[in-house]
Formats: sequence, structure tokens, C-alpha cells
Amino acid sequence: KATDVLILGAGPAGLVLGNLLQDHGVDCVVLERAEPAHLRTRARAGFLAAGTVRILERHGLADGLHRHGRAHSTCEFRTTDGRFRLDYSRLGRGERHTVYPQQQLVTDLLTRFTAAGGRVEFATEAVAVLGADTGRPSVTVREADGRPATWRARYVAGCDGRHGAARRSLPAGSVRRHHHDHGVTWLGLLAEAPPSLDAVGYAVHERGFAGHMARTREITRYYLQYERGTPAGAWSEDRIWDELELRMRTTQYGPLRRGRITQRAVVDLESDVLEPLRHGALFLVGDAAGLISPSAAKGANLAVLAASLLARALADDLLHGDPAGLDAYSARCLTSIWRAQEFSHWMIGLLHGPSGPDGAALFHDALRRSRLASLRTSRSHQDWFAEHYVGV
Ligand code: FAD
Repeated sequence: KATDVLILGAGPAGLVLGNLLQDHGVDCVVLERAEPAHLRTRARAGFLAAGTVRILERHGLADGLHRHGRAHSTCEFRTTDGRFRLDYSRLGRGERHTVYPQQQLVTDLLTRFTAAGGRVEFATEAVAVLGADTGRPSVTVREADGRPATWRARYVAGCDGRHGAARRSLPAGSVRRHHHDHGVTWLGLLAEAPPSLDAVGYAVHERGFAGHMARTREITRYYLQYERGTPAGAWSEDRIWDELELRMRTTQYGPLRRGRITQRAVVDLESDVLEPLRHGALFLVGDAAGLISPSAAKGANLAVLAASLLARALADDLLHGDPAGLDAYSARCLTSIWRAQEFSHWMIGLLHGPSGPDGAALFHDALRRSRLASLRTSRSHQDWFAEHYVGV
């Protein structure tokens, strides 16, 4: 089995890459471990940056998000010192988010790719990428019926996430790994409940962080800072709602609209970036290249950006014999990845602090209050926030 570009993984990175390569006329195949039904229902990201929307628009991939997505431009901070709102569409570069659930975007991308003749091998798990540095890479796979097979390609795009085969196949010593555990854990929740605020809500509370993010008119994502190691199912729904209301200070600012909790996941906030993002004929894209904590909602946006850069570079090389884009791919992506990591790290510091009565915790809490006060009052700080919050 052979193709020019073998794409591992049909998430946002793999499917944007597949669609763009197909538009350029480059032969490619996507291998995906899961079944399509799983991809169409796997709820994760929801906030698309303006730059991401522009990339999707440019390639005719934005019809669904224009029809069903919603513009979003306000966030609200609730703290011990009161609450304040930032309308970031009037700050920084004046850009806004589009709220569009990731599983809907993935569904659109998949539909468009297959309708135009694109080939996705579902229930096919990549096992290892071999010979990436020989110029004749191959990928061993386990097919839907459990049988092994081998694919050959000129290039392999590792879009298979943090635990995928692409990362696993990198020889020891060929890349540098930057890993950081931020020491914070979230319980990520999806509730069958309409949003309670017309803003992203960030509650900074002595009991821990709580977050509110709209997904659709009927579904809202909530986050609760959670003690590490606690199983996702440990708290009853009533306890979750009570804790959300307490941290979001609903007695002061109005109640939350409760509903059934349909999904819970424990997320340890971690960063994990590899450098460089190329090993011979193997390129890392999206979460496979750099995992970012969801604190600033950047992961899917970085995945789309990297996929668009790689698609152009692969087309230039394969169709015009120009390798410059492929040579520059890693450095260009890493610039965006590190800017996003820096902002995301800053957000983690803004929203969480060490708890407890000791001196260090009190010092950090005072710093955090000062940082929030600056964000509430300083126009230049707000401009900086807006530019990084919506940008990739
Ligand atoms: P993935 O979406 O993980 O796709 C990888 C694909 O590869 C999967 O379909 C997987 O099944 C497949 N695969 C894995 N291994 C193999 C293999 N061996 N062989 C074949 N296929 C394989 N980002 C934002 O930008 N905004 C947000 O608001 C946001 N919120 C988030 C909330 C949560 C709770 C979480 C967990 C993440 C959030 N993110 C957000 C991050 C975002 O979801 C990811 O960054 C994004 O999914 C990355 O896309 P990807 O295509 O690189 O990887």
C-alpha cells in the first residue's frame, strides 16, 4: 500500500491537512484508529480563534461554523475583589472567537474530505513509523480485522496526538522534549444546560478555580479545579453544581442553569513540546507536536495552523520540487507554539494559586490579586491580553 503523504490521525490536524493536500492535488491517505461515530461525538475544544477561522474560510472549510457557530467576545472574571468583564473584540487586534464544538468541525472536515474522494482508513491503528531518516519511510499498521499491514509514503504526517505512533517512533536522542506539569488538575464537565452567562466565566476562588464556557444553546462546558488523583466520578452531580455555584459566587451574581452532566474527564494541566518537529520524512503536527494545557483554549487552533503550514510546504515540495517550506516548518510552528505556551502558562498563574495558609501561598495570592487588578484597570494590559487570548 502506498501514497505520497500518509497522515496518521483524523483529528483537526489530520483532517485539515488532508483537505488542503487534496485541494492542492497531492495524493494522501488518512489512517485513523477510531470509528467515524467516535470522531463525530468526541467533545473537546470549542473556541476557534479568528486566525483559525480565516484559514478554514480560505479553503472553503468554514460553511458549518458560519451556519452554526456563534461569535464570542467577552470574558468575565469573578474574584474576591469583585467581578469585571473584558470585551476583547474592542481590545488588542479587535478579534473575536467563534464557538463551534470540535466534534462538529471534525464532522465537517471529514464530510468534505470524503465527498471530494479522500480516503480514510478507519479502525486502523498505526503501530510504528520506520525509516523516516532514510527517505523511504513506512508505517506498520494494525487493520480493522486485526491483521498487520505496511504502508509506504514519501512523507508521513504524525497527527495522531500525544500518545500516537509518530511520537513513539522517534529515536531516542533525535528530539528534545520540553515537559512541564503545572501541578493543577481540572475536572472537565459537559452539562446539558444552556449557558448561564453571555461570557466565558473565570472564577478565582480560595477553594480553587471554576470556569464556564458556552458550547451551544443547550450545552455548556464547566471546569472545576480538582484534587489530583481524585477519580472523575467521585463527586455527585449535586456536589458538582453546589461547588460550581460557590466558586462562581452565584449568591452575588445570579444562579447557574443546572442540567444533567453528560461527560466528565480529569485533565492534569501539562505542557509537552518536542523540538524539532521534523525527523527526516516524518513531521509532527497538532497535539503530537506540542501538548498545551486547555487553560487558554489553544490546542485545536495550533493544530489547524500547523496543518495549513505543512500542507503548503508539502505541496511546494511534491509539486514544484521546492523544499524550503518543509525546511522551515519546524521553526515556524515552534514560534507559534511557544507564544501560546507562554500565554497559557500565564493564564494558569492568573487562575490558580497554591492553597494553604503558609507564607508562599499568601505571597502568590497577593501577586495574583495584583495581576487581576492590573488586568481590570490597565488598558495596555487589556490590549496585550486580548491579542494573545484570541490569537495563535
Ligand atoms: P486529536 O484531536 O487528538 O486527534 C488525533 C487523532 O489521532 C484521533 O482521532 C485519534 O483517534 C487518532 N490516533 C491516535 N493514535 C493513533 C494511531 N496510533 N493510529 C491512528 N490514529 C491514531 N483546544 C482549543 O483550541 N480550544 C478549546 O476550547 C479546547 N478545549 C479543550 C478542552 C478539553 C477538555 C481538552 C482535553 C482539550 C481541549 N483543547 C482545546 C485541545 C484540543 O482538543 C486538541 O489540541 C486538539 O484535539 C488537537 O488536535 P489533533 O488533531 O492534533 O489531535
